[in-house]
Amino acid sequence: MARGKRAKYIFITGGVLSSLGKGITSASLGLLLQQRGYTVTIIKMDPYINVDPGTMNPLQHGEVYVTEDGAETDLDLGHYERFLGVQMTRMNNATTGQIYHTVITKERKGQYLGKTVQVVPHITNEIKRRMTVFDRDYDIVIVEIGGTVGDIESLPFLEASRQLVLERGRTQALHIHLTYVPYVKAVKELKTKPTQHSVKMLMQSGIQPEILVCRTEYRLGKEIRNKIALFCNVEPEAVIEALDLETIYEVPLQYLRQNLDTIVARKLRLKSARPSLRRWSRFVRRIKQPVREVRIALVGKYVKVPDAYKSIHEALIHAGAVHNTRVNVEYVDAEAVEQSKLEDLLGAVDGAIVAPGFGVRGIEGKIRAVQFLREHRIPFFGICLGMQCAVIEFARNVCGLTGAHSAEFDRRAKHKVIDLMPDQRDVTMKGGTMRLGSYPCILKEGTLAYRAYRKKVVQERHRHRYEVNNQYREILQQHGMVFSGLSPDERLVEIIELPGHPWFLGTQFHPEFKSRAVTGHPLFISFVKAALERHQGESDDV
Ligand code: GLN
Repeated sequence: MARGKRAKYIFITGGVLSSLGKGITSASLGLLLQQRGYTVTIIKMDPYINVDPGTMNPLQHGEVYVTEDGAETDLDLGHYERFLGVQMTRMNNATTGQIYHTVITKERKGQYLGKTVQVVPHITNEIKRRMTVFDRDYDIVIVEIGGTVGDIESLPFLEASRQLVLERGRTQALHIHLTYVPYVKAVKELKTKPTQHSVKMLMQSGIQPEILVCRTEYRLGKEIRNKIALFCNVEPEAVIEALDLETIYEVPLQYLRQNLDTIVARKLRLKSARPSLRRWSRFVRRIKQPVREVRIALVGKYVKVPDAYKSIHEALIHAGAVHNTRVNVEYVDAEAVEQSKLEDLLGAVDGAIVAPGFGVRGIEGKIRAVQFLREHRIPFFGICLGMQCAVIEFARNVCGLTGAHSAEFDRRAKHKVIDLMPDQRDVTMKGGTMRLGSYPCILKEGTLAYRAYRKKVVQERHRHRYEVNNQYREILQQHGMVFSGLSPDERLVEIIELPGHPWFLGTQFHPEFKSRAVTGHPLFISFVKAALERHQGESDDV
């Protein structure tokens, strides 16, 4: 909604090394400010040239997060949504590729009227435009600048943020720098030099960070804080300690204890009372000290990089917290399923998820895993490709359709029970052309899905090219498969389930993208409950 006022800006940069958790820091600060009563959104600026992360390999980049409006984005947007409960859009993630694409397209149209098009000001102006697209929609916009200070590719982003602080004034925008304070065992000391260098590097770009958030394995202590403050030209209270914690959801509480929100509020002249975070604290307690435990296997092919399944992992944690239960997620390599014994891999778990994915690698392992879970009556949750595997398995082993497969893996399969969606047939460009984003799904009353959601129409997010082949619906149904969720025109199968099994459900969409901290997602909550029941049933037997 358009407002008269303009937003205030907080830029988050990272130094010394990558993977310090800028995303979690941005989301945590966002939560604190939101709880003070402000509307907050977060923008992620990614310095790479890819136009979007949609075609990037999860092994390199982690999960591709899908927004309601169908953008394939960086996984940090998932953290933002999970912490803030605010919907992200395609405008919340910008890459160098997108920025250049826009500028070059304008140049081709002759819109620069023959001028020389340059990094400064044309690229930086476009970056500033992307940084300020929500200027009148939110009270506060946090901009996370990807990469590490010192990288060549983040320079234009730093320059754009410097200009914005200058243009808007220091009460309207500020920089927070996330850095690392290593502990050197040999001398038993925390070392501040890398932080000093990293701040110096920022200052070379004309940026004086006003707050430093220091990742560290040990308490910083007053002396180290003062030293960092002095050498980096910040107030001692603005040196925030970011200790390693048991769960990412504890980070906002750690920042609250050190008054990060108050310091930001003072600098940006925000007059508001401190947040209490009572519900959030209870949620964190339930994660840290739950009363029960379950084992959930996640069968996928990117298991060596758990970031590839970030949203599923977090959705399980949220659902666990609802039941006051620790969910121990065990990653099972789909390719290992092909070789080793299923009993060893899945025999003792309380439930299993078969993961989304693309490409043939590991597919037979996933199908065999589904068969094992179905036959052994172990709660099964299939997501996207996982659901398609369940249909293939059922077709082959229950309906007797030998050679049933997905057209994705065998174009000449005798029974293509999973086939390319009609509107995907002419697609040649791989980027951004799948069925993406939110679509409605109508639930059938009396089904497991309906009992979980407790409503008739749900909106869920998609990312796929293939679907259940409608020619096989009847035979699948005759053998007991229920299509409990369909698109409003009934043309597309969205949810499948098997009544009679304790919990067997697959979704064509990705429910994990809509699970939020504190509240969780209905399907994950229901699935973890089933796992819990199996777990308790087993211990009762003993
Ligand atoms: N590869 C499958 C498809 O395109 C499943 C996609 C997914 O799991 N996200 O339909």
